[in-house]
Amino acid sequence: MSRADRVAARLAEREVDLLLVTDRVNVRYLTGFSGSNGLAILGPDTRRFLTDFRYVERAKAEVGGFDLQPAPQELRVALAEGWPPGPLRVGFEDQHVSVRRHAELRETLPNRIELVACGGLVEAERAVKEPAELAAIGAAARLVDEIYAWLLDWGLVGRTERDVALALEHEMRVRGAEDPSFPSIVAAAENGALPHAIPRDVAIPERTLVTLDIGARLDGYCSDCTRTWATGPLDDDLSELYATVLHAQETALDAVRPGPEGREIDAIARDLITAVGHGEHFGHGLGHGVGLDIHEAPRLARTAEGRLVAGNVVTVEPGIYVPGRGGARIEDLVVVTEEGHEVLSGTPKALTEVG
Ligand code: ZN
Ligand code: ZN
Repeated sequence: MSRADRVAARLAEREVDLLLVTDRVNVRYLTGFSGSNGLAILGPDTRRFLTDFRYVERAKAEVGGFDLQPAPQELRVALAEGWPPGPLRVGFEDQHVSVRRHAELRETLPNRIELVACGGLVEAERAVKEPAELAAIGAAARLVDEIYAWLLDWGLVGRTERDVALALEHEMRVRGAEDPSFPSIVAAAENGALPHAIPRDVAIPERTLVTLDIGARLDGYCSDCTRTWATGPLDDDLSELYATVLHAQETALDAVRPGPEGREIDAIARDLITAVGHGEHFGHGLGHGVGLDIHEAPRLARTAEGRLVAGNVVTVEPGIYVPGRGGARIEDLVVVTEEGHEVLSGTPKALTEVG
């Protein structure tokens, strides 16, 4: 079954006849279209794809299994017609459609069509990767390993966080990445206490922790990997903090396999960190799915109830953040396999000293 067939087969459980797919990433996943203005309608017997003049040629090359229909740049205008006869329930992606877009759609569609909130169907398919997707994510992960090896050699001390971020993103592109898959994080000393720190124009000092969180996008697919390195010998509190994060990360990683709920894996790391008094310093979830988006299903977090299945790709990334002092996070990218898991991140995790 094609991706579109699998999604179409799930429409009945949501009691809709057709699904209107407008999210750009979901459109790409289902149709192959990589442009920025496309829309798909699918149902048991419907595969309709709309794009405008600028992208028609690209769509001819990329889109398979859908009827390609050129439309005005405001694609919604073409939705006034072209529907199967009779009353219809049409699902829309309510987590991606603004209130304004919904009102415009309602105005455009024939009255016999009922719009039904139907988010998450495509995302649920995307959470289970196909072999070609795993290969793309694996290649993106290896590219980040190359960048870490390059950084270790290039050095951090004395350079500003911002210079390091710029240089590594440049190097990533030179080595084939389309883009970083998110803005790179380079956070030394007290800036490392901010999980989503913005690189500063501040030189990286000796004898502190530096958190590097980087990802590459390759063939549309993302990778994500965090390492925290030491710029020389550390005070005891920082080396203990690192050791705790590493122990939590490796223990939670060991538990990744088909079966457990996301919240159970999260709890393994959280309990270990809480036991040494840092519970309040680990304020984010343990991990997230990665694919065409840098954050997608499934989640590993306190409230994540979905069970892991083979084919999921998730991060395992506990952290401890001590305000005013510093922080550490270690993040691997992992495939859930029938037997357990396969770690895609190859950069060593033992505390690494960088000059
Ligand atoms: Zn990350
Ligand atoms: Zn992440």
